[in-house]
Amino acid sequence: MGLIYGNWKSNGSKELISQFQETPFAEARGLTFAIALPATLLTCALPPGLKKGAQNVSAYGPGAYTGEVHAGMLLESGATFSLVGHSERRQIFSETAEHTSLKIHHLWRAGLSGVFCVGETLQERESGQLPTILHRQLNALLPIQGDLLIAYEPVWAIGTGRAAGPSEAEEAHAIIESWFLDQGLHPPAILYGGSVSTENAAALARVGRVAGFLIGGASLKPSSLLAIGQAFASVRQSSTPSP
Ligand code: PEP
Repeated sequence: MGLIYGNWKSNGSKELISQFQETPFAEARGLTFAIALPATLLTCALPPGLKKGAQNVSAYGPGAYTGEVHAGMLLESGATFSLVGHSERRQIFSETAEHTSLKIHHLWRAGLSGVFCVGETLQERESGQLPTILHRQLNALLPIQGDLLIAYEPVWAIGTGRAAGPSEAEEAHAIIESWFLDQGLHPPAILYGGSVSTENAAALARVGRVAGFLIGGASLKPSSLLAIGQAFASVRQSSTPSP
């Protein structure tokens, strides 16, 4: 019923993983919890009820690519997915559409799932470019050859404390869905990401097109991650979301 994904970014430790052992994620009905770990923690076992994923994957296979971790290595670590195209990768590490395309296809060839992140800057939204930007980012997925979630993450909402409002999320999720329909494909589940917190989770959960969340800062605290999931589940249990 709800997909609650955490992104630890360049944070976390074995000690933090052990804190998550004490939180009853496995008992939360109808929710799938997952954490995208930093590479150094990928071989650690996660507590029951938490799926393990990576934050990044090489655009190349095995070979002379110093510093890279390829998709087969992620698979061997027990990860089941990786993020691709997070705006921090696009902006700070100059990741291009070509990189995101190579990365997602490497994941699929290894039998892994991709959480493909898309989103616009504030300037792009304010100048009416939202559909163009999202379509351009989504084009890197073609041809779609494996398992996929989309995370809609407006750049202006990531780590800023300013989450998208429900209508802003709704608009972007609808654009993403229609891109898939235009390709003749059933849209995958679409997460919302960007300053999700225990305070705003319920309002965002009322947007029916939001299948769950990708959570940065608040995913570092096990009680917050669980509470966000519970807020999502209680909205979905008590109401028929719109539309
Ligand atoms: C993210 O890193 O994907 C993210 C959404 O971060 P935050 O929740 O901290 O805005």
